[in-house]
Amino acid sequence: MKPISFDDLKGKVCVITGGAGVLGNALVKALASVEMKIAIADINKEVADAVAAEIAAESNATVIGIEANVLDKASLEKAKLEINEKLGEIDILINGAGGNSPQATTKVEQMTEENIDKLEDTFYGLEMEGFDKVFALNFKGTLLPTMVFTKDMLKKRKGVVLNISSMNSYKPLTKIPAYSAAKASINNLTQWLAVHLAKVGIRVNAIAPGFFITNQNRFLVTDEKTGNFSPRGQKIVNNTPMGKFGDPEDLQGATLFLISDVSSFVTGVIIPVDGGYSAFGGV
Ligand code: NAD
Repeated sequence: MKPISFDDLKGKVCVITGGAGVLGNALVKALASVEMKIAIADINKEVADAVAAEIAAESNATVIGIEANVLDKASLEKAKLEINEKLGEIDILINGAGGNSPQATTKVEQMTEENIDKLEDTFYGLEMEGFDKVFALNFKGTLLPTMVFTKDMLKKRKGVVLNISSMNSYKPLTKIPAYSAAKASINNLTQWLAVHLAKVGIRVNAIAPGFFITNQNRFLVTDEKTGNFSPRGQKIVNNTPMGKFGDPEDLQGATLFLISDVSSFVTGVIIPVDGGYSAFGGV
């Protein structure tokens, strides 16, 4: 009997948007470990090239950096041509670009009698610019690359899209209303696309990472001066049954599972990778 493995991924072409970021970096390492051909499509070409060179040097994978803006269709189309030329037709897409913005973050968690006179610290002080930015990056930034990079899959009647959701897609976290709603939209889009593309051989799934300390949330979960957890960071640990933040490498197994043929009957699911956070009622 042939052992079940991720061998089908060897030599397949995978595009990962935002692949130069903290979580993206760990995902690229997972793809490299099974010897895929990887294009890190990122707005920051310099970092994408550096990550690509570093991971290529320590693996048997082909890894290249490609400049692409997930909010600009023309830039994505240009990137696709370059990827086709350098690596071949695209088999798999990971929509990794996304994130929150301080501009769409309230200063207080709840409105109370104590802060009701400081409206600028609450929901009422948020600028539309912040909302627009976060919605664009997370929703449109997943929609547009999917439209562009799945064209080769459509021809072959075979392919996989993996979206990156978040814990706040199930229940919103305080302070970050735009990011929470935008990630909820990713779950919805994942299911919609899974249905729409099921009969043409393209599977669409997502992972919902729990809490990992990265550049975009460091200001919320740690105290800049001491490096200790902020009260919010401590609250996250207390509400994670495993009692810790995740390590980006914890996302690798679920990612390889969802993009490999081992999950060929799995589409439209969102898998939490969260140390039990989403299962815990808080008591
Ligand atoms: P990150 O900020 O470290 O990386 C994001 C990457 O996206 C960067 O390399 C950046 O250059 C790139 N990027 C930004 N705008 C872009 C654009 N317009 N076009 C192309 N590339 C662009 O973020 P991360 O923490 O690694 O997060 C990756 C994904 O995981 C995001 O979708 C994020 O929302 C999600 N997520 C993160 C956490 C966490 O704890 N960090 C938890 C849940 C979900």
